[in-house]
Amino acid sequence: MRWSRFFINTLREVPADAEVVSQRLMMRAGMIRKVAAGIYTYLPLGLRSIQKMEAIVRDEMNRAGASELLMPSIQPAELWMESGRWQKYGKELLRIKDRHDRDFVFGPTHEEVITDTVRDAINSYRQLPINLYQIQTKFRDEVRPRFGLMRGREFIMKDAYSFHTTRESLDETYDVMRDAYSRIFHRCSLDHVPVEADTGNIGGSASHEFMVLAQSGEDAVVSCPNCRYGANVEKATSKFFDDEVEPAPSEVLAELHTPGTQSIDDVGAFLNKPTSQLIKTLVFDTDLGPVMVLVRGDRAGNEIKIKNHLGAQWMEMLSDTRFEETTGGPIGYCGPVGTKCARVLADHSLRGRKRWIVGGNRKDMHYDFAVPGRDFPEPEFGDFTTAIEGDPCVRCGTPLEIYRGIEVGHIFKLGTKYSEAMQCTFLDESGQRQPMVMGCYGLGIGRTVASAIEQSHDDDGIIWPMPIAPFEVVVTSVGKDEAVLRTATEVYEKLKTEGIDVLFDDRDERPGVKFKDADLIGFPLRIAVGAKSLANGQIEWSFRKDRAKQLGAPDEVLARVVEAVRAGLS
Ligand code: ATP
Ligand code: MG
Repeated sequence: MRWSRFFINTLREVPADAEVVSQRLMMRAGMIRKVAAGIYTYLPLGLRSIQKMEAIVRDEMNRAGASELLMPSIQPAELWMESGRWQKYGKELLRIKDRHDRDFVFGPTHEEVITDTVRDAINSYRQLPINLYQIQTKFRDEVRPRFGLMRGREFIMKDAYSFHTTRESLDETYDVMRDAYSRIFHRCSLDHVPVEADTGNIGGSASHEFMVLAQSGEDAVVSCPNCRYGANVEKATSKFFDDEVEPAPSEVLAELHTPGTQSIDDVGAFLNKPTSQLIKTLVFDTDLGPVMVLVRGDRAGNEIKIKNHLGAQWMEMLSDTRFEETTGGPIGYCGPVGTKCARVLADHSLRGRKRWIVGGNRKDMHYDFAVPGRDFPEPEFGDFTTAIEGDPCVRCGTPLEIYRGIEVGHIFKLGTKYSEAMQCTFLDESGQRQPMVMGCYGLGIGRTVASAIEQSHDDDGIIWPMPIAPFEVVVTSVGKDEAVLRTATEVYEKLKTEGIDVLFDDRDERPGVKFKDADLIGFPLRIAVGAKSLANGQIEWSFRKDRAKQLGAPDEVLARVVEAVRAGLS
C-alpha cells in the first residue's frame, strides 16, 4: 500500500476529551474517529489492527473446536422475555420498536439468540457438546462511555457459547477455552493474568476474567505472589483475623456520648481508638427491603458481594431522605441496637469479636459493649468487605498484592440458567429430557487492541506488537532524489512479494513529518532510504521500540527485516 493513496489522517492536536493514552493515540494516529459518545468509525488504519486481532481470535477459536456463525444485532424482545432479562437488564439494554410497534433490542450479548438456535437444532445427547462463536457488533448503553474503544457503547466482541450434556463436559471445554484465551493474549504480547470474577448480569456458577495489567485499568485485581491466586477485587476473598480488638471490660451495654462525630474517623479520633476497633454501619435499599451491613471501621463494604449474598436484583445506598424513617436513627449514628431494619448482616471479620462499638441510633450517641444476640438480633455473617493490599491470601496466607487491570475477556460457566428458562433440552441416553449445560466466553476486540497500546507506547506514539500492527513495516523515502525513489520502490515491491504487510511512505513531505507520523502510528519496523547512505550503497532500518539505526546493503536489510517480521520481533 502506498501512503499517498491510503486514507491516513494524523492529528497534531491532542483531542480535548481523550482521557487515556490509547484513546489519545488512536485518535491522533487516525485509527478511529468519534461519531457520538461511545460510537466510533474504525478508519482504515484502525480497521487493519482490528481485523488482525479478529484473525488471531478466529484462529484460536477454530483451533479450540468452536464453529463460527453470525447472529443478528437486532433481536426480538420475546426471547428476552423468555429468559427473564427483558425485566432484569437495566438501562444498558437499548430497546427499540419497529414500524409495527413490536419490541426489539440491539443485542448487548447473545445468550438468548444462541439458545433459541440450539434448542431448535439439537435434540439428542449424540449431537453434544458443541461450541459456537461469532465476532459481532454489540450495543450497550453504558452510563459513562469513555476511554475510546475501551468502553464504547457500540463495540466489537467475540462471543462464544458452548452446550453440554454434563457439567464435566462443560468443565473440559471451559479449560480448553481458558487456554485459548491465554494463547490469544500471549500472541498479542500482552502482559495479562486470568483472575476469578463475579458473574454479574450474565449469571452462572464460575467465571474468570482476563486482565491486561495497566495503570489506566478500571478494575483492581488481587494477586498472590506465592500461589498465584488471582481475583477481581469485586470478588476476591482474603483470610481475615480480627485479633486486634481488645476484649470488653464490661458485660453491660453502655451509652457513649459522642458529640459531632458523623464519620467513623470522627468517632475514632473522639474515642482515641483506631477505626479498626469500631464498627461501621452501611444501609442499603434493595428490592428485598432495607438491609443493614456491619463492617470493621477501617474496611470498605463490597456492594457486589452483599448484593450476591442477598440475591437482590437491585441495590443502592439508602437515600438521605428515607434514612431516619427506615433505620430509626439519624445518618452518622446508625447502628444495629434497636434498628428498624429487619435484616442485619455482618462481615466475617467481626465473627468472634469481643467488643462491639456501634452507632446508637440517636444523634451524638454510640453504644459500647454491645453483644450480638443480646442487644440486637444475631446478624447473618458473610464476606462483605473488599480485600486490600497486604491481606493474607485465602489459600496460602501470603500478603496479597493489588494491581490495576483492563478486563479484556470474560468466561463463564452458565450452567442451566438459560436452558431451563428457555427449554433448551436434549434427550439423554435413557430417553430422558434434560436441560443443556452451558458456558459462554466473551472477548472485547477493540478493548484488547486499545489495551495493547496502553501497555506499549512512548511520548512519540504507539509501539505496536507485530501481530496487531496496522502494517508490519513502513518504507520511507527521504527526499526526491530519483535513485532514492527507485530503491525505495524496489524495496517496497520486494517486501510485498515476500508477503510482508508493508506501507510505502511515498509522500512528497519533509523527512521530519514522515518520521514523526511513522513514530506516532507505531509501525514496528521502519526502512528509510536516503540519498546520503545510498551513495555508499546502504539503506537504514530500525525497530520502533528503540529506534536504533542499522545500515546495510538493500538486499541484506531486506533479508533481516523479513526474518524479523516472520519471527514476530518488534
Ligand atoms: P465491564 O465490567 O468492563 O463492563 P462486562 O463484564 O460487562 O465488562 P462482558 O459482558 O463479560 O463484559 O463482555 C465480554 C467482553 O466484552 C469484556 O471482557 C470486554 O472485553 C468487552 N466489553 C464489555 N463491555 C465493553 C464496552 N463497553 N466497550 C468495549 N468492550 C467491552
Ligand atoms: Mg459491562
